[in-house]
Amino acid sequence: MSKAKVKTKVSEESHADVIEVVGAREHNLKNIDIRIPKQKLVVFTGVSGSGKSSLAFDTLYNEGQRRYMESFSAYARQFIGDMERPDVDKITGLSPVISIEQKTTNKNPRSTVGTITELYDFLRLLFARVGEAYSYETGKKMVKFSEEEIIAHIYGRLKGRKITLLAPLIRGRKGHYRELFEDIRKKGFVKVRVDGEILDLAPRMQVDRYKIHDIEVVVDRLQVTPDMKLRIAQSVQKSLQMGKDLLFIFDHDTNSLLQYSKQLMCIDTGLSYEEPSPNSFSFNSPYGACPSCKGLGTMHEVNLEAVIPDGQLSVSEGALAPLGEEREAYIYRQVQQVARKHKISLEKPWVELSPAAKNILLYGKADADPEAMRLHEVDMNDVSEGPVYYATEFEGVVTMLRRWFTGNNTSEYLRDWVEKFMVMRSCQTCQGSRLRKESQWFR
Ligand SMILES: [Zn+2]
Repeated sequence: MSKAKVKTKVSEESHADVIEVVGAREHNLKNIDIRIPKQKLVVFTGVSGSGKSSLAFDTLYNEGQRRYMESFSAYARQFIGDMERPDVDKITGLSPVISIEQKTTNKNPRSTVGTITELYDFLRLLFARVGEAYSYETGKKMVKFSEEEIIAHIYGRLKGRKITLLAPLIRGRKGHYRELFEDIRKKGFVKVRVDGEILDLAPRMQVDRYKIHDIEVVVDRLQVTPDMKLRIAQSVQKSLQMGKDLLFIFDHDTNSLLQYSKQLMCIDTGLSYEEPSPNSFSFNSPYGACPSCKGLGTMHEVNLEAVIPDGQLSVSEGALAPLGEEREAYIYRQVQQVARKHKISLEKPWVELSPAAKNILLYGKADADPEAMRLHEVDMNDVSEGPVYYATEFEGVVTMLRRWFTGNNTSEYLRDWVEKFMVMRSCQTCQGSRLRKESQWFR
């Protein structure tokens, strides 16, 4: 880079918008002045040896690092050592710098700029340690309490009140729960709260098996007085243990129910998240990946336009492209069989067939949900053989394509052929973000 090539005009623009380099002479740089706009993607191009790296790494990055080091105390600097000042007259407007080394990488759908440079690893750590969880049901901040905090809360908010400590066992589920009642009765508890009503535990007790129930066991009933501290601590611990980190406190004076959880919980809905770890934010980990697309952000689905390119053709004329025209073949014997059974005409144009007939030919079921059936989940870790189909009934063209596309025994050749009938689209569950819902609600 010679000075003549770089157009530069020194003006009084603020340092917030521009990095100004004056007289850069590092390596083969020929005393150049340059102004680089901030908040923009800036690219240095030029033939090999023209000084791109000398400017970016040896001048800008080095000077940024040096200034960062200089901000340490003299005591700390004696361990790091001073960095050499790059050969440049002046650099203004430089912010703290990071550099990403030049690397050649293999193409992999699970690699991004973030994962290759390991920047993403630091971001994951940041989110896991200081990220705050919000409920995806209400958008409100999630809370969690330690045992000490719960006890402090009880003494802070419920001093002098009569309270009942409840351990939730069943939340919004159907069943008669005969064994559950028997089990807690044998453990020595005498009362339960069923759907908001406190009942005495009786032998052979049960509830309506077809209704949805909330069941809590009454762990303790007491008045919050200073001398109760030990008993409250013991009962809180017992409740959390039985309620799997969840505890309800019923306040008899106000008839209100307070919920406490040792895990991150949404106060309004009771939704809880697991404690976040760096893996919760990795789309390459089952703890963080969107369950629908397995962290790829995209999904293959059968493209009906490719399967049925011309709806005016009949099935026997080849309306279903993967089947081709009707001929003496095993697959067509299956199609003929299913057509006879369901009285589907193979001679009528495809567009004139009933929705049920189309569903049978495409998905093997008259009442199939086309949207759900077309989706195909790409599972890179899946080593199972998948469902086995026996040739009793035609499974449907779409189902067949999906099976071939995912099957482990599918040859490369067959898979390439099937791919012609598939399209890639961004995952509807995570909107292409690759992460599971919970992970997206940490901020
Ligand atoms: Zn997804």
